[in-house]
Amino acid sequence: MQHSAMITSHNPTVAEVDLHAFHRNVQQLRKLTGNGSMLMAVIKTNAYGHGVVPIGKAAVNAGADRLGVTGVEEGALLRESGINVPIHILSSITLEQASDVMEYGLTPFVASKELAEKISTVAEKQHTTVPVHVKIDTGLHRFGIDPQDVLSFCETCYSLPGIRWEGIYTHFSSADEGEWKKTEHEYQLFLDTVSELENYGFHFPVKHVAASTITIERPDMHLNMVRPGIALFGYPPAPRQKKIVDLEPVMRLQSKLVRVRELPPNTPVGYGGSYITKDTEKIAVVPIGLGDGYHRALSNKGQMIVRGKRARIVGAIALDQTLIDVSHIEGVTEGDTVTIMGKQGDKEIFAPQIADWMNSNVDEVLSSLMQRIQREYS
Ligand SMILES: *Cc1c(COP(=O)(O)O)cnc(C)c1O
Repeated sequence: MQHSAMITSHNPTVAEVDLHAFHRNVQQLRKLTGNGSMLMAVIKTNAYGHGVVPIGKAAVNAGADRLGVTGVEEGALLRESGINVPIHILSSITLEQASDVMEYGLTPFVASKELAEKISTVAEKQHTTVPVHVKIDTGLHRFGIDPQDVLSFCETCYSLPGIRWEGIYTHFSSADEGEWKKTEHEYQLFLDTVSELENYGFHFPVKHVAASTITIERPDMHLNMVRPGIALFGYPPAPRQKKIVDLEPVMRLQSKLVRVRELPPNTPVGYGGSYITKDTEKIAVVPIGLGDGYHRALSNKGQMIVRGKRARIVGAIALDQTLIDVSHIEGVTEGDTVTIMGKQGDKEIFAPQIADWMNSNVDEVLSSLMQRIQREYS
């Protein structure tokens, strides 16, 4: 978020991003691919909340061959920051965005004749060629061309001027869940579709299917490129993968207690009084709330760490504040550091634990964190 240039200090809630840990994670994943496959660092959704520009630069420094982002907006920011590697747009683009894609030298996927024709027209006008990847739907049923329609798509579009058909890919539906039978079926469908196209003379040099799970667990499916996302940030999609690859969480979320007060027994706490003190209790205020992307589902459920001890969230989380019970914490005082996510002393709360409390997943925990939370890179 843009802050006023006049501000000399900020809200105590800070997301500390450890670029060295990120660098090591990229290298760990790279090791799994050997030298046979390129690595696209998927840093969509503002790099899963970590900040797309600093993370994009760190990814390239760590040896990522390419970057994958959500849309034209993130791609343009990366280009303006001086990044030159190929940048793939992983969400769909509208016809109107074709000229920006070209302007910023981005690589979109194409799954419709309309978009292929639009890109071709714009590219021809500019006397340029746009690299494009075809996306096949093998079971996620979101984006992508149906395998049975892809031959007719190529017959219409492959010879359009201004397009370089650089690659072809799919995104699996159930790999994280370890549903190998389904995943192998989707993989086979992809391979069969590609080889049918090649029989007809439609070639796509860069073939890829592997997000984090496949990058970690299935080297037999790496093909020409892997596309890990969440694993780069220290979280393998499934706990079973911790045995295979050693990754470190990249972000730590810290704040400070801005108020500590003692309340008598039977005092309702927070909006709606959804928590009522049982004894005389010490309740502290932490300046993080719904507006920071700290979810309401954590009300009366989540925990934070203060002075090396866990403290429970009490009452409903408000827009800007969360209340915690610090009664049991010796010497607790205003200004004490609060670890919301990360390690403090011998206690730790990482994103999977927060996701559990929220009945969600790590992707949501991380990518929810709003831009107004100051990011500090080291
Ligand atoms: C998000 C995404 C990835 C990365 O997925 P992770 O499970 O986070 O590794 C890879 N490929 C595509 C097309 C994606 O949209």
